[in-house]
Amino acid sequence: MKKSNKEIKITGIVQGVGFRPFIYTLAKSLYLNGWVNNCGSAVVIEVEGSEESISTFIERIKPEAPPLAHIKSIDVALGTFKGYSDFTIEKSSASQNRNVYISPDVSICSDCQRELFNMGDRRYLYPFINCTNCGPRFTIVTGVPYDRVNTTMNKFYMCDKCAKEYGNPMDRRYHAQPISCYECGPKLEVVGSDGVKVDVDDPIKYIVEMLLDGKIVAVKGLGGYHLVCDAENEQAVLVLRKRKIRDDKPFAIMARDYESAIRYCHISLEERKLLESEKKPIVLLKKREDYMLPEQIAPYNPYLGVMLPYTPIHLLLFNDRLNALVMTSGNRSSEPIYYKDDEAIENLCDIADYFLTNDRDIFIRTDDSVTRVFREKEYIIRRSRGYVPMPVTCEIFKLDTPSILACGGELKNAFCLNRGNEFYLSHHIGDLENAETLNSFEEGIEHFKKLLDIDCKVVAYDLHPEYLSTKYALSMDLQNKIAVQHHHAHIASCMAENNLNEDIIGVAFDGTGYGEDGHIWGGEFFTGSYGGFKRVGHLEYVKMPGGEMAIKEPWRMALSYLHKIGETVSEGNVLLACVDQGKAAAIIQLLEKNINSPLASSMGRLFDAVSALLGIRSRINYEGQAAIELERVVDSSYTGCYDYTLTQENESFNICVDETIRGIIADMKKGIGVGIIASKFHETITNIIVDSCNAIRSRTGLNKVALAGGVFQNITLLEGSVKSLEGNGFKVYVHCNVPSNDGGIALGQAAIAAAKINKTK
Ligand code: ZN
Ligand code: ZN
Ligand code: FE
Repeated sequence: MKKSNKEIKITGIVQGVGFRPFIYTLAKSLYLNGWVNNCGSAVVIEVEGSEESISTFIERIKPEAPPLAHIKSIDVALGTFKGYSDFTIEKSSASQNRNVYISPDVSICSDCQRELFNMGDRRYLYPFINCTNCGPRFTIVTGVPYDRVNTTMNKFYMCDKCAKEYGNPMDRRYHAQPISCYECGPKLEVVGSDGVKVDVDDPIKYIVEMLLDGKIVAVKGLGGYHLVCDAENEQAVLVLRKRKIRDDKPFAIMARDYESAIRYCHISLEERKLLESEKKPIVLLKKREDYMLPEQIAPYNPYLGVMLPYTPIHLLLFNDRLNALVMTSGNRSSEPIYYKDDEAIENLCDIADYFLTNDRDIFIRTDDSVTRVFREKEYIIRRSRGYVPMPVTCEIFKLDTPSILACGGELKNAFCLNRGNEFYLSHHIGDLENAETLNSFEEGIEHFKKLLDIDCKVVAYDLHPEYLSTKYALSMDLQNKIAVQHHHAHIASCMAENNLNEDIIGVAFDGTGYGEDGHIWGGEFFTGSYGGFKRVGHLEYVKMPGGEMAIKEPWRMALSYLHKIGETVSEGNVLLACVDQGKAAAIIQLLEKNINSPLASSMGRLFDAVSALLGIRSRINYEGQAAIELERVVDSSYTGCYDYTLTQENESFNICVDETIRGIIADMKKGIGVGIIASKFHETITNIIVDSCNAIRSRTGLNKVALAGGVFQNITLLEGSVKSLEGNGFKVYVHCNVPSNDGGIALGQAAIAAAKINKTK
């Protein structure tokens, strides 16, 4: 029989996921000889055997690859026959191993889960069980290559049994870097709120008792500490709210399993897939009509953030009587999640009664990811644990695109670095408003540079001169610095994610972004692409009395709109009944004398104004609250809308909503319910989008529309707009794996910078 030799190169996520043992086993089963090795970020194979066996081998690689592998390409070349007598896994040298992908953290796999509850297994109930297919990754990696010495597991010396599994290519734990067992691995510990260790035989059993007793426990997870309490215990939830000083920002819960989650929420097939995926994000689910959990978990909110257990510790906590746990980030108000033991104990001791901690260090803090489903596809809100550091591949950019650091925005910051056309959007950093978060941002950038082994040649940043991310960019010792307008970045991010590379219509709606004219933008219509854009239309400017204060107090925006149309607010008036007359008079003074009242074309502020006007929310406790609660009351059985005007002014049109506000007031005076008014308002904004896009298309011929910005987290508006635009023959693009809010703008900044550099080449 004629024997041949083939050289195979496989790219994608093929390292640190059990790929070489898989190839080894597959080759052996087909009686092929040769070798497999890591090379750069790829895996290379040389096989010898019959033509037929080699083709079977190649055919089976993709469908049978290990669960965590993502194959991008398989290239096959004819080699010269060497006459190998066996198939071997070659040792890779450190220098060959630079460009590897680091896997995100992966939830416990079914094999490990089975072993965890198997009394005969040597890791029965072991809280740190993991294998090549699961366990911590990104959060424990200290450097490259991905090897035990470059993880926080370095301090644990493998016992003989673990070492044997680690070294055996046929074992599920071959090269599983966090491998450990009772004998050699990390251990759980219970610590009291006084910082003193509590001596207990069984930490899990003890903590479960405490949770059932209504206590608050800080539990160390993969990317940081969670504050945890029994979700079915209303008193415990109230205590947690009070101690965390968190008024009504929703908490997420962890449900024991799918069966328990479906008792609280509606779950579609797509939502279930996300819930049960190896990423285990928090999924926003619609509460059931007979929702039975305490209202205080997610007050005034039609949705509940739900996740399923993703570590052995979580599974052990649920092994007994608990059905659902509140799991919220272990932080204090605007600070990032605590991930170092001493820092967590010091800062959370007045919130938590106990700490369930352990001695496996977290190297990089990573929050839970938050996601939802829109039209049967993922529509992510916060991209962090389980997703990071998976790159977003943008095929439209050249492979030799220089490395760019994009610094992101101010709120919900995430930065972005690229290696060629692979864009690595960072984990969620948070609001860059304090030293702790800024520190996290700076350390995060250094860590990513190290992991990706890149040196940035270019920095991209937001136009806003006061953003800390902008200041950081400007302080860098680099020649090439590219400022990017905030809403251009939103649209570019949506385009890059969808691999678009042409002029399109961009609709960017959000709360705040620094405009090229120095005003606050946020209700914008653009045409253009990465290289540049034209602002072809926007919401008419309105004053924001008191500047930043108008964001925290939406009633100020309502007053500003009322003042604009000449409507007075007086005692006994249905309008702004919630507002003190004296305060209202003071704000009118600001508006009339033009004191501290910056101009804004912000769609977010318009939603705020309507929410306050309807008496739904006049002061907010978290970002977007007024709009979220306005969306909640929408009576979707009602159709109807208000008037507005589009006026062409030179190159761009102006959207004036005076008639909308007048219509709302007229309805209020007639005593029409808020549900109907909210519904008519949402439909009005949808109409504004469609009419504007039609006007732009008739002038430019452009037919593709990208919708981006935080306002499009409003599903009622998003659904209405997409449906209506499609009905008008537009091709509509929205985000999917990159957030539509400011957590996604770094990708847009990087894409714009990449396009600009390539152009100047
Ligand atoms: Zn496993
Ligand atoms: Zn061991
Ligand atoms: Fe924004």
